Amino acid sequence: MKGWILDIYPDIKKGKMVIWFRAKKHCYKIEVDYDSVFYMKSDKKGLRQAEKYYEKKDFRTERVRRITDLYSRKEEELLKVYPGKVFDPRDQLQAFKFFKGFKNKEFYNVDIPLDQRYLIEKEIKPMSILKKKRGWVDLEDERVIDYSKPDLRTIYLGVSTEEKKSKRRKESRMKALTIGDETLNEDEVSLLQRLNRKLKRKDPDVILTRGGDEFLVPYLAHRAELNEVGLKLGREAALHPSKEGSWYESYGRVVYRPPSYPLKGRIHIDMENSFLYKKGGLDGLIEASRLSRVPVQRLCRRSPGSLINAMEVKEALKNDYLIPWKKNLSEDFKSTIDLLKADRGGHILEPKVGVHEEVIKLDFASMYPSIIDKYNLSPETLGCTCGEDRKVPELDYPVCKKEEGIIPKVVKPLIRRRQKYKKLSKKNERFEKRADVLKWLLVTCFGYTGYKKARFNCIEVHESITAYAREIFLDTVDTAQKMDFEVLHGIVDSLWLKGEKDKIAPFIEEVGKNTRLELEEEGIYSWIAFLPRLSDGIGVPNRYYGILEDEIEMKGIAAVRADTPRFFKGLQKSLLEKMKDAETGSELTQMIEELLDIIRSRWIRLRSRDVEPNKLLFTKTASKRVDEYLTVNEIKSALYQYKEMSFRRKPGQTVTFLVTDSKSKDENEKVKVGLKELSSQDYDVEYYEDILFRISEEILIALGYDRNKIEKTVERSRT
Ligand SMILES: [Zn+2]
Repeated sequence: MKGWILDIYPDIKKGKMVIWFRAKKHCYKIEVDYDSVFYMKSDKKGLRQAEKYYEKKDFRTERVRRITDLYSRKEEELLKVYPGKVFDPRDQLQAFKFFKGFKNKEFYNVDIPLDQRYLIEKEIKPMSILKKKRGWVDLEDERVIDYSKPDLRTIYLGVSTEEKKSKRRKESRMKALTIGDETLNEDEVSLLQRLNRKLKRKDPDVILTRGGDEFLVPYLAHRAELNEVGLKLGREAALHPSKEGSWYESYGRVVYRPPSYPLKGRIHIDMENSFLYKKGGLDGLIEASRLSRVPVQRLCRRSPGSLINAMEVKEALKNDYLIPWKKNLSEDFKSTIDLLKADRGGHILEPKVGVHEEVIKLDFASMYPSIIDKYNLSPETLGCTCGEDRKVPELDYPVCKKEEGIIPKVVKPLIRRRQKYKKLSKKNERFEKRADVLKWLLVTCFGYTGYKKARFNCIEVHESITAYAREIFLDTVDTAQKMDFEVLHGIVDSLWLKGEKDKIAPFIEEVGKNTRLELEEEGIYSWIAFLPRLSDGIGVPNRYYGILEDEIEMKGIAAVRADTPRFFKGLQKSLLEKMKDAETGSELTQMIEELLDIIRSRWIRLRSRDVEPNKLLFTKTASKRVDEYLTVNEIKSALYQYKEMSFRRKPGQTVTFLVTDSKSKDENEKVKVGLKELSSQDYDVEYYEDILFRISEEILIALGYDRNKIEKTVERSRT
């Protein structure tokens, strides 16, 4: 039988692995045996004690000598335990009493998801074409780029309730159901029955929802139960036990993770709860699943960083390392954005404030992963004595020259595959999607080396990467200056230069020779404005706007910040749209009156209450519960009003509000939440006026107009 593994998960009760195997047309459920072996380390007495304990449970044990983990190099005596079935070894809490705590005992290979372990040990990939005879044979090499793919049947599922979306809850009656591109309006019972029939007839492999984890799946289950309809969303009626929603703190910011509702025999992708689906679609998920051996249904809810970790686990197991039980391991990894903000070392060259013409932008392609790859940086390669003559700059750690480390092994294929997909992406969109997912995996692989709750964190590796990056950056700036370029700004892996265009190619070649990394030309700005900090006029890294190859590029300004109300984003964008007409810096200076006119007309609209209140709404993330805020600020007031309307908002979730009286100390007067009926009579004109001038200053400061000057000019010409 030939086909693809669609989904796989353990059935602990039965002691089997469940596999949903997708053949050419149909999908079959297969249950297979799997012995989830694990290891234990202890002193002599502890090992004897454990042998007795596991024998009583009918587990076979054996003494073996193994290298215990990535960081140690000597073999030790261990107890290898064979449960003889699928056993969740995390279920060691029972043993806790017997062993009088786990003192003197270390466990290995106990906290790796069993689906992934099974796939790695059997040397097969999910979503790869397999042959099943007595055992499994994977018919496709991992390195293949243009692999076969099952013809997955995908269906979209949506619902509308009697209450509008922002107010719906599980008590709301169902009004209509969308299945694929068809929307049905009937009474609730017939809708549920129709859904069952449709799913049976179409037999989809993938169900896509918007908010299925947060609302739709538990909602449908609830409505079906209420109406006594036996709903079958998966290929089996039962749902997996769900994980409840949770919130966790990362970098001082509270992040909410919705609950998850995977289905049995069918993949449920909640498009709103899947970062990787948003970036790479189903093609991207399949690529990541094949590379990490994490099944798509579980993978789609994970962050790119936790996949990097899964890939490291895969490489470590393939290389016969054991994986120590990490009790404080967090799968709720920092969000990708936090990782990008994480300290990347101090290699920044302050920008030269003001407007510059004909500026060249150059980038190192995937700089951090390339450093890991080219310089073989990994926990087990650092400190190896064979690398005495190859030391990390500044830090002087020797690095192994003979064997490639686990992290480079993970990173290298990601870099190579992405390059190949990028070249192919013009031919076929699915290659583009795969390249996009790989990009996000590459972006996060550096941050996790320094994250203490990650499995293979190693602060020395983290430091070594930044040390190399700093050396490469400074060396490149030096080369640029030697070749008569003026360096206007530089930040980590990007450079903004002024100089002769025909010297770019020789410069790139020289840098490649010196650093072993590839520098790429991003393009040329007809002009670019680097912006200062308003308090003291010093240049701010990565805050600028300009015209790069006929496109507006903006970084770090209000128009691209998530929490800016739409009215002000619109203001900055229309200023820049106008500025796009200027081909040179002096043309830009000449258009100041027209720019002030744009600001003036928006200001007049704001003052005469002619702005739709929806466009002035702030969306902010609550970091605490309403009663935990000590002073009455905007967020507390918003939370208070949500609560009054019986809408629960947890820390990490967002609140949306209009500022109605910014000076008020009363929760009901300070703001008005977006759920309520809003009128243009509600907003606090003075408060929003102040924002308008600040937002305008951020742009016009490059032309010598600060807030005072803007305000005066705008107001004067009105009278
Ligand atoms: Zn070595």
